Amino acid sequence: MEFSIIQGDITAFTADAIVNAANTSLLGGGGVDGAIHRAAGPELLEECRRLHGCETGKAKITSGYRLPANYVIHTPGPVWHGGGAGEEGLLASCYRSCLHLAEENGCRTVAFPSISTGVYRFPLECAAYIAVREILAFSPIAKTVQSVTMVCFDERTKAAYEAALRHAQQE
Ligand code: ADP
Repeated sequence: MEFSIIQGDITAFTADAIVNAANTSLLGGGGVDGAIHRAAGPELLEECRRLHGCETGKAKITSGYRLPANYVIHTPGPVWHGGGAGEEGLLASCYRSCLHLAEENGCRTVAFPSISTGVYRFPLECAAYIAVREILAFSPIAKTVQSVTMVCFDERTKAAYEAALRHAQQE
């Protein structure tokens, strides 16, 4: 399984599935969630309404509608409350849940945004390390998924994921 880190807009990324850093209502929000809903069109919200929300750390899949991606995998990341509320385990669970759902749906290529590091205020370095660790741990058990890309919106986020990857590779 290939793993790459790029800077860009995930709504323009061509993959079998892109991940949405959603909220538990799955009814859209700001940040990457709003951008994905705008680019996908109103049919995405219609399908999301029928899902009746999603728990933090879990994931649900929909069609990608007008996006270049076939599927959107929606995962509510944890809001950072200082680290004592299980935030690290929940963030790891987001990445694992999305990768398993991608496999169940036969996806070969998957793209992630930096879950929880925007409005949800999860410390970037820590979030990047958790994301990279979970993606690398998934690699040997991946069957259909051949490529995972972290699509970082800004330079600072990209640099944090690159540093986390170097760190993880040294372990
Ligand atoms: P959360 O509520 O999980 O923190 P946000 O959407 O606020 O989610 O932020 C998560 C990350 O997504 C941030 O790094 C933000 O810069 C980034 N982001 C925002 N828009 C896009 C986009 N179009 N493509 C990729 N990443 C994006």
